[in-house]
Amino acid sequence: MHHFDESIDLLAERILEYAKARTRLDPIPLNFPKTEEELRELCGPTITPDGIGGTRALDLFIDVLEPASLSVDYTKYLSFVPAAPTEAAVLFDLVVGAASIYGGSWLEGAGAVHAENEALEWLRSIAGMPVGTEGVFVPGGTVGNLSALHAARHDAKTRLGDARPQRFAIVASKESHSSIKAGAEVMDCDVILVDTDDQRRMTGAAVAAALDEHGDRICAVAATSGTTNLGVIDDLRSIGEICRERGVWFHVDGAYGGAGLATERTRPQFDGLELADSFIVDPHKWLFAPFDCCALLYRNPDKAVAAHAQHAGYLAFLDAHGDRNPSDYAIHLTRRVRGLPFWFSLATHGTDAYTTAVDITLDLADAAAEMIRNVDYLELAHEPSLSVVAFTRTGWGPDDYQAWSEKAMNEGLAFVTPSRLDGKPIYRFCFINPRTTTDEIAEIIAALA
Ligand SMILES: *Cc1c(COP(=O)(O)O)cnc(C)c1O
Repeated sequence: MHHFDESIDLLAERILEYAKARTRLDPIPLNFPKTEEELRELCGPTITPDGIGGTRALDLFIDVLEPASLSVDYTKYLSFVPAAPTEAAVLFDLVVGAASIYGGSWLEGAGAVHAENEALEWLRSIAGMPVGTEGVFVPGGTVGNLSALHAARHDAKTRLGDARPQRFAIVASKESHSSIKAGAEVMDCDVILVDTDDQRRMTGAAVAAALDEHGDRICAVAATSGTTNLGVIDDLRSIGEICRERGVWFHVDGAYGGAGLATERTRPQFDGLELADSFIVDPHKWLFAPFDCCALLYRNPDKAVAAHAQHAGYLAFLDAHGDRNPSDYAIHLTRRVRGLPFWFSLATHGTDAYTTAVDITLDLADAAAEMIRNVDYLELAHEPSLSVVAFTRTGWGPDDYQAWSEKAMNEGLAFVTPSRLDGKPIYRFCFINPRTTTDEIAEIIAALA
């Protein structure tokens, strides 16, 4: 099976044809999940001793499997954090697959890693972090947060030596993402969840109080620049200053919201981010890259290397070569050069196009908030922040929310799922797709009457 023949030639044509048609698809359908039984029935056996053939397998994907998988770039997919990769980024993902590049070491992936680093450099510059800040693309915010927090704890351990505590702890806010808790669990660390202020922001004062109480047990403070539920940015400046003063690692989770740095409209809200020791942003969320892609940056890359670099006889050749390797910055060794589709799209369109696209989604959020203010059956649950608009439906309980969302999904009206705020149901729109229109928002709002 390792040779090129007519059947592969045909397959290449059909696969490229599919890719072309999918990037051109308008409108993009939401699609609908099926049960495992239904899928087994529709597909029949796919893994057989003789193989079913590439054409048949591709047909199964196009006719059965893809329609049973939701399109994250469906324009009325406003749940969770959707995705809207650019055509250029999606197409280049095919190139990354075809090129067979190992992205773990500079020696093996130099050219591709150089391009990834160019994209990281742009993120560094808009984040206002100092020159010398370096990093790597990892699969997602969860791995990005875990890798940064592990580096933070490693640094604290090294610094404290024999005086180190039995068990470290991480400070985060009650609005922080579930991955901070998940990461702490992996690290066997405690998480101290501090209260937020009346705008649901973590503040320096709250962090200072936690540091006073827990002292050297705290190895990192994890602030959020754009909470998933509400888009709220913590008070990065006051938190960053306290962390500096106390010598505690300052991590900023911008997995969703970091894209707000791309425009002057929201960049000032990130004031203080330049103090961060580590920062993440997911280009696969609001920066229009395909899954999976999280940029992880370290102010002091040496500290990341100290925590993450793997050493072994079979890797000694790479050590002897003396390069900075992407594998040294996170919990991984082998890696796909997953930053390349993002780099290609940035290089193709230029950073101004990113500013414009983020601005369009901010306009959509403004428009949605205005529509919600103008109807009596909906009420904003929080002042809209970044591109998240959270609201309640007057008179509805949790079951009504669930039922409406199911119905909207089944009828192909929209993919809008309930969330919770203070234990009560809310809806939230998360706008990251510049292809969404205000007419589509109006249609959803009307359907909630
Ligand atoms: C989405 C998100 C994460 C997790 O990122 P994944 O890429 O899904 O692993 C972490 N933090 C925040 C604030 C997020 O919105």
